[in-house]
Amino acid sequence: MHKLERPTQPNELIDAKQAYTGSISQDEAWRSFKKDSVRESLKNAQDGLCAYCEIKLSQDTRIDHFKPKKLDYRLTFDWDNLVLSCDGIDSCDNKKGGEFEEYWINPYITDPASMFKFYSDGQIEGATQEAQKVIEDFGLDSPRLIMKRKGMLSFLTEELLDDIDTLEYYKNMDYPMFPTAYKQIIDKISGE
Ligand SMILES: [Zn+2]
Repeated sequence: MHKLERPTQPNELIDAKQAYTGSISQDEAWRSFKKDSVRESLKNAQDGLCAYCEIKLSQDTRIDHFKPKKLDYRLTFDWDNLVLSCDGIDSCDNKKGGEFEEYWINPYITDPASMFKFYSDGQIEGATQEAQKVIEDFGLDSPRLIMKRKGMLSFLTEELLDDIDTLEYYKNMDYPMFPTAYKQIIDKISGE
């Protein structure tokens, strides 16, 4: 996770919010809402990555209500409450489910930079007890993510110190997936 900047609210969402009075259920109102502009806007802001686990988003994405809409019908179309997540049975959004905890981290609001420790074997650790609970609640330590991170990051070893040019090259590279983990590990190898 890294800090995200929320773009301007799409007009379609403003209109939907104004039109919604709670007379039908949150789920029903959300289902019939055309979500393309919201999805597109969040996808751009997140560089095409899941806001939580930072895998590359496929065609299928989930718009997560950070605070579940069942808590308050006004959360249904609240721009500040929407985050784009990966899709699938054990996706971040599915893992969060319909719950909400005060210690949860919305990367559009809180800078999570120092909250997680990443390792080139794919493991992740919380810097605090609450960060550790976020890892468990969002499934950031699920086997699918550990395997994927390992596959993408295992070339980042101390041996890179033997070839400073290559290390410099990697340091300046915009890594396409897991950019937070990538940067943290390479900075550690470089002694920064
Ligand atoms: Zn995810």
